[in-house]
Amino acid sequence: MLDRTEFIATLERLIAQGEGRSFGVILARVQRLGEVNILLDESLSSAAHKRIEQALLPDDRLAQVGECEFAILLAGVRSAGHAALAANRLVRAFQEPLSFEGRPAQMVIAAGAAVFPNHAQTPMALCRCAETAFAQAQQSSDRYAVYSPRADRPELAYTDLREAVTNNRLNVYLQSIWDLRHDRVAGAESLARWNSQALGWVSPDQFIPYAEQTGLISELTRWSLNATLRYCGQARQAGRGMPFAINLSARVFHETGIVEQILDAIEIWNVSPDAVVLEVTENALMADPQLSARVLKRLRDQGLRIAIDDFGSGYSSFAYLKQFPATELKIDKEFVLDMTGDVRAAQLVRSMVDLAHNLDLDAIAEGVETPETALMLAEMDCDFAQGFFFGRPIPAEEFLAQHCAPIPAPGNRRGLNADAG
Ligand code: C2E
Ligand code: CA
Ligand code: CA
Repeated sequence: MLDRTEFIATLERLIAQGEGRSFGVILARVQRLGEVNILLDESLSSAAHKRIEQALLPDDRLAQVGECEFAILLAGVRSAGHAALAANRLVRAFQEPLSFEGRPAQMVIAAGAAVFPNHAQTPMALCRCAETAFAQAQQSSDRYAVYSPRADRPELAYTDLREAVTNNRLNVYLQSIWDLRHDRVAGAESLARWNSQALGWVSPDQFIPYAEQTGLISELTRWSLNATLRYCGQARQAGRGMPFAINLSARVFHETGIVEQILDAIEIWNVSPDAVVLEVTENALMADPQLSARVLKRLRDQGLRIAIDDFGSGYSSFAYLKQFPATELKIDKEFVLDMTGDVRAAQLVRSMVDLAHNLDLDAIAEGVETPETALMLAEMDCDFAQGFFFGRPIPAEEFLAQHCAPIPAPGNRRGLNADAG
């Protein structure tokens, strides 16, 4: 078992491994039922420690950080929902009494969880979030809680985000999309990144919903379109044109002139319309199916491609699915992440691939983290895949240098395949 210093060092190492990583931290206290802040006898403490370990997954790490306090690193956790499941599992593990000196000892545990990078971006800040959640857990009949950003978070400042958007201080990151049939990079998805002066790196899961709430999303969408299409144009100029996917928020469908804005940007950056994929989440489409279908149809008529994003995570009826002029279906990563360990998840992914093909759409699986998953998807005839296994999102300049370097003119070619003479 780790101690406090080793635990913090472990978190630091994980964070240093880079962009795109996520994990959870739980702070938990075990005590005898009816007693408060009583030191645990050593053998009782080790029985509690064993019980906690039984509730953890193989990659999780446990540290003792106080007499009866434990910190846990949840290696595979990606969302508040995942963290809540883990904390709940921990609490349930103590429903059965421990055995102490041959007699049952009923213990209780309270657990507070926080998630990196959603809730905080440094080990200490993350532990403070877990502590806040822990305090909440102690008050709650569930005995567990996940940090809620509203509780004590420094508010995302409207002026900061507006300044970042209007002064082009957000960054475009590109994540490759892999062609499973031909084994090569087929394109990329554009993902926004914000390194705020006041808050450090803020996750898009935070600032995109915030931009939607505050109305900044129109400007952010304009920024994303122009910033991404600029790179798209550069790739084309280098003779390495490939489709770049841009996320559209549900809100923009209501904006007058959105279609013209998109078409103008394509023209300005000299991009071919079929090299642009607009990603719209299933939920966004369903918020106003008629309006979304109308807007998307106009764009599709101009040759742009349309992807239904996060498919499977929301509610859509097959009747509507047929109405949307989509060209691809992106299978939500929650299903893909579970595929290799969960037969049902794998069957669902297979059904979604088949559904896509029956509707004449390409199937793209998101969240591919392992070679096993990639292989399974290829066997299912899935067309494209995206995920950490193929590449994390990287700064657009880096992506272009790696995948879109100019093709040398015939006379300048060198090497084995160089033209003779
Ligand atoms: P999304 O469109 O579903 O984007 C995919 C997310 O999955 C990205 O998170 C990406 O980093 C992450 N991801 C990729 N591969 C893997 C993997 O193998 N495993 C796991 N666990 N995750 C993976 P990110 O960049 O944090 O973006 C979160 C969401 O924020 C996006 O979800 C998208 O809805 C939104 N977003 C990001 N950039 C923009 C933007 O420019 N405009 C709009 N409207 N939304 C954006
Ligand atoms: Ca997307
Ligand atoms: Ca997605």
